[in-house]
Amino acid sequence: MASPLVVNALELLRRPGSRKDLVVVVPLDDVDLAGEDRLVDDSEVSVELSCESTSDAVVVMGAVRVGTRGVCRRCLRDVEGELTIGIHETYQETRTDPDAFPIENDQIDLRSMIRESVLLDVPEAPLCRPDCPGLCPVCGADMSTETCSCVVETVDPRWSVLSDLRDSLPE
Ligand SMILES: [Zn+2]
Ligand SMILES: [Zn+2]
Repeated sequence: MASPLVVNALELLRRPGSRKDLVVVVPLDDVDLAGEDRLVDDSEVSVELSCESTSDAVVVMGAVRVGTRGVCRRCLRDVEGELTIGIHETYQETRTDPDAFPIENDQIDLRSMIRESVLLDVPEAPLCRPDCPGLCPVCGADMSTETCSCVVETVDPRWSVLSDLRDSLPE
């Protein structure tokens, strides 16, 4: 099956400076990201890239957009969002640039590059908002919707975990 993310490099390399624009939306499966738990299950990948040739390479530039999900690392709330990832990569048949992706059988296969870029950019531990105040380390109240009377300044959460542990240990 031909993927829209596989581009013919011959036409581009024949005339340096020529360009092919690619605007497609593909399912996660097409870039081998189905089941990735940091992405929204039924999300699609929006791809807007331009491929432009030089004398010995094809430069791919643009952006890829995916729906992301996770749990806020401070307040543990579910977070869903959309992430736009900037792309600027080089493809070469004869690799002189060690960071270049290979052109194989005159084809530029954008799929593994897109997969790598997404996995690299989607945060492991997101925030629901940049200034999320998180949970009270003493009573666990959600500080963005609740107030509590705990004196947080004097308690190091690591020590409270330790003392909880000590309390739970048998004599
Ligand atoms: Zn949060
Ligand atoms: Zn509290």
